[in-house]
Amino acid sequence: MFNNEVYYHLSTNSLSKEKIIKWYSCGPTVYNDSHLGHARNYIMNDVLRRILIHFGYKIDFCMNITDIDDKIINIAKSEKMSFGAIAEKYEKSFFDDMEKLNVLYPNKIIRVTESIPHIIKYIQKIIDNGFAYCVNDSVYFDSLEYEKKFSIQSIDAPSIQDNDFSHEKKNAKDFVLWKKAKDGEPFWDSPFGQGRPGWHIECSAMCNKYFGDHLTIHTGGIDLKFPHHDNEIKQTYAYLNNNKWCEVFLHIGHLNIDGLKMSKSEKNFILIKELLAKYNPNQIRYLFLNHKYDEPMDFSYQRLEQTSNDLKTIMNFLQELKIKMKSNSDQDKNFIFNVIEFENNLNQSLCNEFDIPNLIKKLFENIKIINTNINKINKENLANIYYCINNFLVMLGVNIMRSTDDYETKTLDILVKFRNDIKNKVIENKHFDYLKMTDDLRNIILPNIGVYVEDKKNESIYKIIR
Ligand SMILES: [Zn+2]
Repeated sequence: MFNNEVYYHLSTNSLSKEKIIKWYSCGPTVYNDSHLGHARNYIMNDVLRRILIHFGYKIDFCMNITDIDDKIINIAKSEKMSFGAIAEKYEKSFFDDMEKLNVLYPNKIIRVTESIPHIIKYIQKIIDNGFAYCVNDSVYFDSLEYEKKFSIQSIDAPSIQDNDFSHEKKNAKDFVLWKKAKDGEPFWDSPFGQGRPGWHIECSAMCNKYFGDHLTIHTGGIDLKFPHHDNEIKQTYAYLNNNKWCEVFLHIGHLNIDGLKMSKSEKNFILIKELLAKYNPNQIRYLFLNHKYDEPMDFSYQRLEQTSNDLKTIMNFLQELKIKMKSNSDQDKNFIFNVIEFENNLNQSLCNEFDIPNLIKKLFENIKIINTNINKINKENLANIYYCINNFLVMLGVNIMRSTDDYETKTLDILVKFRNDIKNKVIENKHFDYLKMTDDLRNIILPNIGVYVEDKKNESIYKIIR
């Protein structure tokens, strides 16, 4: 059912660069500080997004926030706070961590509690299409009807049981779309009864709310592949009454700690904030880059130290290049390093299933060759090598050398002010059809390079994430 072949599209260029790529990423349930598994998932989402931007794709990246859920309700009860206050607190904590980890913001964030009317309409249409039924103020997805229409056998597994309501379901494979509220729980009015959306339906409905009936890329952690994404696909097909929806699903691989499953109760658990207190974001990101995005990986402090040393080697090499760029003469031409071929080689690794570990391997092989010959390479060639390697690292979100320099800030100051002037003129003269251009610049184009513009009353301000 899943099409994991975005790299096929990449290498054959069949993803259109003309159209904007609609990308939906399952976001966090905000009831706690985020942990290392979240870090891997969202950093690798960020890396894949940056790679597509690097290849010239325009991306509209939307992420949901699950801000109502059993876990949020339970924490709210135990901390004597409202569920809304808990959700707000941990959403802020999540984005603080992401900003520190150098993860680009989504172009759009959608919260469940802000989407309830759309979710209700979405469920109603699934009922009207004959793929869901109401029992005692709850609504269930009708797996047998779905299998009949789409000729797909559902996977039967214990994990798809909704324990609370299992006696109400017609079939064990059915799952809840709308949950009747229990006493004291938050609820919303609906034609089905007072309650709240099930977890799976929120993603189908919110994705549809923002992107409509078609999606290019859908991402999430591998633990969401089943049942969450499986159910999301069923719901969406049932809603659309056809099986044409998402082109590509990508799942980020699982993360263990010291060979064991991450577990809070076993104290085998690391928060992003704990790790950021000891290591810098480049070290954390670089560790993840050393693993294929879709394969399982094992975290250990030993491995983190080791990859941090590798990163240091790259930094020292770039420093050395800078020094030699000054000291070598223009005449040194005994050794010419082919930067274009090197660059093509690195790009090829990215096109081949986003194989970043292979890119890193090639990088080190070439660093060795360059180091051996560094005194024989002329200045211009050295500068090209330097910019090529630095650009690849920046593209992957590792910022070793780059600081926001004066020139860049000045250029952005001018661009953002220019955009603001144009926007004001467009509004003043009622040329509203041009507003899309200034909106696209603010919402799509600049966020894709880590620049976030906010329109205030008379001026526009911006901030940068690298
Ligand atoms: Zn989801």
